Amino acid sequence: MTDLPLLTWALVIAALVLGILAGHFGWGKRWPASLSKLHPDYLTGLDYLVTEQPDRALDMFLKLMDANADTIETHFALGSLYRRRGEVERAIRIHQNLLARDALAPEHRELALLALAQDYLRAGLLDRAEALFQQVSEVPRLRAIALDALRLVYEQQHDWQQALGAYRQLARVKAAPPRIVAAHYLCELATLAIERGDTMDARRLLREARAEAKPFSRAALLRAQIAERDAQPELAVRLLRQALTESPELLQDELPHLLKLVEPQARDAVLAALVAQAESRDFSELKRLVFAAIAADLVGAQPLRASIEKVFSQDATLQAVWRAGPAQYERTAHEIGALLAHAEKYRCNECGFSGRSFYWHCPACHSWDSFEAYAIVKLR
Ligand SMILES: [Zn+2]
Repeated sequence: MTDLPLLTWALVIAALVLGILAGHFGWGKRWPASLSKLHPDYLTGLDYLVTEQPDRALDMFLKLMDANADTIETHFALGSLYRRRGEVERAIRIHQNLLARDALAPEHRELALLALAQDYLRAGLLDRAEALFQQVSEVPRLRAIALDALRLVYEQQHDWQQALGAYRQLARVKAAPPRIVAAHYLCELATLAIERGDTMDARRLLREARAEAKPFSRAALLRAQIAERDAQPELAVRLLRQALTESPELLQDELPHLLKLVEPQARDAVLAALVAQAESRDFSELKRLVFAAIAADLVGAQPLRASIEKVFSQDATLQAVWRAGPAQYERTAHEIGALLAHAEKYRCNECGFSGRSFYWHCPACHSWDSFEAYAIVKLR
């Protein structure tokens, strides 16, 4: 967690000073003749802040602050800063302190509940966050914010049915995220249906997913999985190829799977079609195919030979190996294949999280569709 810029803290402390002065003396009334009239506890609170004893400082400020309309923004600002700094327990104390006051205006109580729910979410206390967000979602002006937060709580709980429910409610108030998110929820539900053997329900869910987003490679992959279970390998191959055309980043995982499904005599024709497709796009796509082929131990496959040579002779990093001669490059290709088997093959382009598995939903930053094929291979 990075520290907030000093300036931000200075502004908060300034807000605290103004808030406390306002609370103590009242705006419009006589301004204190000198700061020496400040409550001595307030100065003690500042001492604690300066000497980096934040908990004691917080105790002191909470004791001093009246929750009247003049100091309330300060409470919210301080609570939000603590949460952003990852000091969630302090944020929770501030918001609970606010809610404990009988004189709190209803609109401030609703905001404090929302802030406390966000603290709980940040602290990973999902059940408490869920209950509060549900309560706040009844408030019309906060409904969209609370429903969207609820959707994220359900995502973290992997409760896809509820996440879809929150999405649909958001759509009704025209505040839903892109429809691809709903399509992913439906695919998560379809995956569970396939796991429990209910392929009829899985097909229904995938039809709904395709109504939300088309083309949608994830739905094609799941339909391929169902076709494979139903002993329809030709349909499975067609759907897998469709998914690979739509999402070439799936090649690393799905190329070996695809080749396992095709008859041995049809393998070269499928590879040639993949080469033609990659050639018709751009060099990076060809490179992606070549690396997936190398990882799948297909260095010697005839339809790929020209592509492997092309990538090795034109890629800036691999050129040196290419110049050393064909024997050298074949050996290097095998070595790269061995390295790729243990490399981190995917990376989230939102947060940089990387790993050996592909995720539709980033486990670190919870973005959808943010994973890209990626590998660091050190050439000796
Ligand atoms: Zn991420």
